[in-house]
Amino acid sequence: MKITETNFPKIKRDFLQTLQINIGYKCNQACSHCHVDASPNRTEMMSNDIIKIIPKVIKVNDIKLLDITGGAPEIHPKFKQLVKEVRSLNVEVMDRCNLTILTEPGFENLANFLASNKVQITASLPCYLEDNVDKQRGKGVFQKSILALKKLNSYGYGIIDTGLILNLVYNPNKPQLPPSQKELEDDYRRELKERYGIYFSNLFVLANMPINRYEKHLNVIGKLNEYNKLLKDNHNSRNLDSVMCKTTLSVDWKGYLYDCDFNQQLGMRRNGEIKHLHDLLTPLVSLKNNPISIGNHCFGCTAGAGSSCGGELS
Ligand code: SF4
Ligand code: SF4
Repeated sequence: MKITETNFPKIKRDFLQTLQINIGYKCNQACSHCHVDASPNRTEMMSNDIIKIIPKVIKVNDIKLLDITGGAPEIHPKFKQLVKEVRSLNVEVMDRCNLTILTEPGFENLANFLASNKVQITASLPCYLEDNVDKQRGKGVFQKSILALKKLNSYGYGIIDTGLILNLVYNPNKPQLPPSQKELEDDYRRELKERYGIYFSNLFVLANMPINRYEKHLNVIGKLNEYNKLLKDNHNSRNLDSVMCKTTLSVDWKGYLYDCDFNQQLGMRRNGEIKHLHDLLTPLVSLKNNPISIGNHCFGCTAGAGSSCGGELS
């Protein structure tokens, strides 16, 4: 079956609020569940010419949030310049941070920079137990993540009334749906505080997408069909109104547009005339009611309580 042959319900866009840019696939980690196939060996990076037009696109389209992802987005040489320019427009910026990058040589000043520019941080921490994190993200990742979280706390991240948002992201380490976000958030808050004295703002629970590296992993362990069936069997139509592709546009390192980051990783460019960041430099372009490119992977967003870059949907 082709990716786009699916019985997932047809969905249309709402007004654009968030621009999510994938600034490059290079990462200091190579996690087993990574839907981007990011690793230290990837060389794809957004060009300076594309980076330059992002603030203009944000201004022209009255975009509320720039969500920067990768790879490890902070590795891009123009990361800081882009953040400063977009913050000067009084637009929110979110850094999807893998935490360990804060402990790498050359990134000692990163936490200070993010705090000074009031950048929101959304960081992966798939468990508060060392073994589970290291299994999914690589040996030693947990201890480095704890160091990084303590550093972020010391700058005020995750501390009430500082305005510095530190969200954590959980994804299951087995082919199953995530547990209740509220209950798991309570567990994380208690365990991270008691064990390490760490604080955070919110916990987002995400379902793993059965694409790319995670799809291969499921195939190897003989669970791909079972997991796809689980997602489909648990489809919850109430989530259709709030899937992230309604209000978010995903941009690849070459500036091409997709309805979401998953579609980007599958090479499913969006339908319609607006295909590249350049096409969004013209005022009054509206994406409202544009059809969204869908595939079987979309059940990963609507299964159970739903899943998005901001956690549960319903
Ligand atoms: S840290 Fe994130 S981008 Fe990097 S390999 Fe892991 S999941 Fe992928
Ligand atoms: S994978 Fe999710 S976010 Fe992407 S198009 Fe499908 S429903 Fe929308």
